[in-house]
Amino acid sequence: MNSQHTDIAIIGAGPAGATMAALLADRGWHVTVLERSHFPRFAVGESLLPRCMDALDAAGMLHVVEDAGYQIKRGVTFTENDHDTSFTFDDQFTPGWSWTWQVLRADFDHRLALEAERRGATLRFGQTVESVDFTTPGAPRLAVVADDGTRTDLAARFVCDASGAARVLPRLLSLDRPGSAPSRGALFTHVTDRIDAPDYQRDRIVIGIHPEQPDVWYWLIGLAGGRASVGMIGPPEWIHGADGTPAERLRHFVGQEPRLARLLASADFDSRVGQTENYAYDIATLHGPDYALLGNAAGFVDPIFSSGVTIALESALRAVDPVDTQLRGAAVDWDAQFEAPIRAGQRVFTSFIGAWYRGALKHVLFNPAPDPAIRTMLSSILAGYVWDTDNPYVARPERRLDTLCRLCAPSS
Ligand SMILES: Cc1cc2nc3c(=O)[nH]c(=O)nc-3n(C[C@H](O)[C@H](O)[C@H](O)COP(=O)(O)OP(=O)(O)OC[C@H]3O[C@@H](n4cnc5c(N)ncnc54)[C@H](O)[C@@H]3O)c2cc1C
Repeated sequence: MNSQHTDIAIIGAGPAGATMAALLADRGWHVTVLERSHFPRFAVGESLLPRCMDALDAAGMLHVVEDAGYQIKRGVTFTENDHDTSFTFDDQFTPGWSWTWQVLRADFDHRLALEAERRGATLRFGQTVESVDFTTPGAPRLAVVADDGTRTDLAARFVCDASGAARVLPRLLSLDRPGSAPSRGALFTHVTDRIDAPDYQRDRIVIGIHPEQPDVWYWLIGLAGGRASVGMIGPPEWIHGADGTPAERLRHFVGQEPRLARLLASADFDSRVGQTENYAYDIATLHGPDYALLGNAAGFVDPIFSSGVTIALESALRAVDPVDTQLRGAAVDWDAQFEAPIRAGQRVFTSFIGAWYRGALKHVLFNPAPDPAIRTMLSSILAGYVWDTDNPYVARPERRLDTLCRLCAPSS
């Protein structure tokens, strides 16, 4: 058993962990990131939001991804029975970025991790955090096991959990709460898309609704180099209960959605198909005396609005000052500085996700005669500007959205 010491231990080197590591290293702290896998590694979640660009810029991370050659993303196209409605980010209520990227996450996450290392953080790959002992206040101890079985007792002053859906601390500390959303499953892969349809705009994520199963939806995210991310979400018994391998099921279901079936008619499904289910969960608290939860470790509802990386980056940015202040011995109002703003952003997305799955949001998005001012407000939500309280759909998301959905509902 090795014994080591660090100021801040970070569990996980995804976007939240790598960004937090870079920012804390900038402040002069000794930061150790424990990452169980080896980078580059596959991760689902290629579609970023324009709000990510502000966060990457604020974290000094933009320059490490801007020459990667990722596919530019300028908007979202929703489609049902080959009928479209598009939102573009150049027509927004909130002043901000009008574009972002559709990234290869293996490369994106690797670049952020390398940047954290360059700025002084210690990154250890192939190291799994098994447990954390918080018995002594101000001196948590992490039990870490390496790929080769070597065990390390890492003493720290503070722990940031950025372990994503693995949510190491919520599970150890019983902070995990079942999500309020019904259980859903996903199938996803990368393809060589061979799309040459003139109506396809590669710079927009396509979200397709199943023609007969309104709670089943698909994504098509164009990547650079003729590749695309293709996936679908639906009730687990529907998605995983059908016959065939995951690859056969995904191809079968893609064939049922008219637009994706047409666009992907010549696609080569040449990569492994991944699957997941029950991905939604809530967390009782996002901080404790010697820890904070970042990114997906702080909760996750649904990928429909591509909000995951945005929340991950934002949570790192919002946690830096409190961690820094606390370790310098001053008092911190964690609720006001960290938990409240992160929950506020999550709440906006959660309201929109709820309206999507109730089937009500569809009528707003496909409204043939939309109010132009409201459309710009919705564009800003789709762009991830969920902390701009001047936007009425941010300030009072449930109430405003409910009213809008009622106004746009088809008369029976
Ligand atoms: C089907 C699906 C589609 C999605 N699509 C999108 C999308 O288009 N856009 C978007 O923004 N988001 C999307 N998301 C969400 C997005 O993937 C996540 O929100 C994002 O990756 C969260 O970043 P993170 O840094 O919190 O965690 P992660 O990126 O998950 O990183 C966590 C890291 O922690 C490591 N780890 C885990 N356990 C341990 C341990 N015990 N010890 C050490 N290391 C550990 C893991 O190996 C991993 O590298 C999607 C999610 C799903 C399920």
